[in-house]
Amino acid sequence: MKKRVTLTFPKRLVHQPITYRLAKDFNVAANIFRAEVAPNQVGKLLVELSGDIDQLEDAIVWLQEQDIGVSQTSREIKIDEDICVHCGLCTGVCPTGALSLHPDSFKLMFARSRCIVCEQCIPTCPVQAISTNL
Ligand code: SF4
Ligand code: SF4
Repeated sequence: MKKRVTLTFPKRLVHQPITYRLAKDFNVAANIFRAEVAPNQVGKLLVELSGDIDQLEDAIVWLQEQDIGVSQTSREIKIDEDICVHCGLCTGVCPTGALSLHPDSFKLMFARSRCIVCEQCIPTCPVQAISTNL
């Protein structure tokens, strides 16, 4: 089972080896898609957790016991097809291949199921066609 979550770390936990503990204690793999962690500041990680459903639930409870905020985002990427000019710039930064250009028509294609809402595509769009629903 996989869950995409945003983890919010209090200042004192920013340098803890959280992903190591998840793997070692719960057999849960944490694939980090985006990290915003600066010294002496609250840190945020957008991660995909994968593992057995029970161990995943236990891992989330453990994270919460460490004062780490766990939120399962319902945030989604929106692409305004009336604005998009199919330049393909956004496809170059998409880490999952959710954005691509059709090989024949060269039109932008968006595979929502592959999108992990890392938001890296948003600032690359020259015509501001990409946004989120929240
Ligand atoms: S937010 Fe944009 S760059 Fe990130 S995975 Fe989704 S489509 Fe790709
Ligand atoms: S960068 Fe913007 S205009 Fe270019 S293909 Fe992506 S969404 Fe369309």
